[in-house]
Amino acid sequence: MGLRFYWLANVFALINAPVVFFSMSCDMLWFMKVYFIYAIMAIALMLLAPTVYKVYLMRVYGYERDRDLEELAGIEKVYVFNSALPKAFTLGREVFISAGMLDILDGEELKAVLTHEKFHVAQNATPLLGRLKVLTFLPISPEKLEIMADEYAASIVGKEVLESAKKKITEFYSTVELGEIEYV
Ligand SMILES: [Zn+2]
Repeated sequence: MGLRFYWLANVFALINAPVVFFSMSCDMLWFMKVYFIYAIMAIALMLLAPTVYKVYLMRVYGYERDRDLEELAGIEKVYVFNSALPKAFTLGREVFISAGMLDILDGEELKAVLTHEKFHVAQNATPLLGRLKVLTFLPISPEKLEIMADEYAASIVGKEVLESAKKKITEFYSTVELGEIEYV
């Protein structure tokens, strides 16, 4: 629900932008040009970034599709990459989870982490809308998105399972004393 309002606000801001520009004097035309160049570059970069990062992941870690995990969480594409550190993230509509995460979590906890990522997949499902925030300067805070993703995961697997997964991940990082983010 919160996300829907956020998209609406973005769409509204985007529709509003030309209206505001056209109501300005002609002296402001240069600003409009700069804005459109910025918009085109931002879209190009956003479309390219996941592809570039996937190539990097393949080179550095290597990854494979995992049909069982896809079925477990109802996600179209899940890839397991070869890192001992427990990590999970979403690129576009594809979820990446590390072998290290599979090592420390049980089936239900894995489902919790994957369901959290599934929220991000849904959030990225409309590529154009998902990228509006760079055009309208109405960014939703990453923290807020993480909380929403956790709430979604908890609503599917239960709060206890989610907390147990997060606890194991936190414990792993506190043991190895790496200041890395566990999952995003
Ligand atoms: Zn997240």
